[in-house]
Amino acid sequence: MTASFRRSCGVLRSLFHFGWRSQHTKASLQREPRLGFNFEFTEQQKEIQATARKFAREEIIPVAAEYDKSGKYPFPIMKKAWELGLMSTHIPEHCGGLGLGAFDSCLISEELSYGCTGIMAAINACALGQMPVIIAGNDQQQKKYLGRITEEPLINAFCVTEPEAGSDVAAIKTKAEKKGDEYIINGQKMWITNGGQANWYFLLARSDPDPKASVRKAFTGFIVEADTPGLQIGKKELNMGQRCSDTRGLVFEDVRVPKENVLIGEGAGFTIVMHTLDKTRPLAAANAVGLAQRALDEATKYALERRTFGKLLVEHQGISFLLAEMAMKVELARLSYQRAAWEIDCGHQGTYFASIAKIFAADTANQLASDAVQIFGGNGFNTEYPVEKLMRDAKIFQIYEGTSQIQKIIISRKLTDRYKK
Ligand SMILES: Cc1cc2nc3c(=O)[nH]c(=O)nc-3n(C[C@H](O)[C@H](O)[C@H](O)COP(=O)(O)OP(=O)(O)OC[C@H]3O[C@@H](n4cnc5c(N)ncnc54)[C@H](O)[C@@H]3O)c2cc1C
Repeated sequence: MTASFRRSCGVLRSLFHFGWRSQHTKASLQREPRLGFNFEFTEQQKEIQATARKFAREEIIPVAAEYDKSGKYPFPIMKKAWELGLMSTHIPEHCGGLGLGAFDSCLISEELSYGCTGIMAAINACALGQMPVIIAGNDQQQKKYLGRITEEPLINAFCVTEPEAGSDVAAIKTKAEKKGDEYIINGQKMWITNGGQANWYFLLARSDPDPKASVRKAFTGFIVEADTPGLQIGKKELNMGQRCSDTRGLVFEDVRVPKENVLIGEGAGFTIVMHTLDKTRPLAAANAVGLAQRALDEATKYALERRTFGKLLVEHQGISFLLAEMAMKVELARLSYQRAAWEIDCGHQGTYFASIAKIFAADTANQLASDAVQIFGGNGFNTEYPVEKLMRDAKIFQIYEGTSQIQKIIISRKLTDRYKK
């Protein structure tokens, strides 16, 4: 961290006393075993949460509306978050990272998302791009590709979706053909968050041309350097919400990837993607909860100030009951992501709880953002107030990292499997 950054950034000065980034690599701060049932955070978790909360209030909220308006990529904010250890938190300690677990990473995600889920989408997409390498990379791949992210705030992306295949991952057409010690990649990807900013990409491609090949064998996961010849980056998409996040299409034309960049081995790609999403959906859920909490806070403050019919809004039962329902939903959504993250930290697959958390938190964020706009009345529809942005930003939680319908398919499959046994 440069001396000039320290001097200029008065708000965060107090945090440097913690020696944040290096402290987290110490064994004394590793997760304590959880015994029984306990809602109390550890001292470390309280510290993580407080740091992320302070960062969101002091660094993100003041600039969120401007980034939303300009659509500019929020790299300066991401760099500060990286410097404080609030970004790329999953990277293992043997690669120089903090090695935080899912629960602690989710706590950070919720707090930062309270400030702006557009900025957080850019941060989270890095975790999404890194996760396949964390769970499936060999030592050499991890040291090379994760290690460099601990040295500088490099960006990553996760390239799975294509123009013709989103929910149906097995329908992707990008193909990888082995020629000697390389794979030649041809195809197109769509809606890739951080698409134009990444230093390297995780890419899923079809390596077995036989249409009858099983999905568990037909696809391969690759690490692709962004400067590889033949990789073309499309224009930034203009989205409804989370507008400073960089979403793009990518074209792969005879892109040559060395066989050393295959994760696990040919045919393991589909499983890697599914396992990755199990680990990142609780993060997406935590982001949605951050947005929902912001909607509740803004609506409550407004209801305590605005008067109609000679009373404060909050004194009308119609409004106070709405606020109570909003509070109930946000508390339950928070518990759902915490349960899902806890499952992962216990070493469980966590698919069922990850999908429940993702869909419930996404729906909660949408409902609460809409309720907040309602409580603000006409002001809620205007860009001078913060809640219309929340409503635009919320929608994508029901779409990316698996739509709400896909989460229901997963939950119902897991549920019925139990009864079939
Ligand atoms: C802003 C943004 C960022 C994104 N970032 C990334 C990224 O970083 N990396 C990446 O790989 N992808 C990314 N995506 C893609 C995203 O994951 C897909 O858009 C999503 O999975 C849905 O796929 P689709 O758009 O093709 O919709 P479709 O699959 O065409 O689905 C259309 C509708 O039909 C429903 N549907 C589909 N199949 C079924 C079914 N069997 N039963 C019931 N309903 C069904 C869906 O739920 C949806 O409502 C992003 C998308 C957006 C918009």
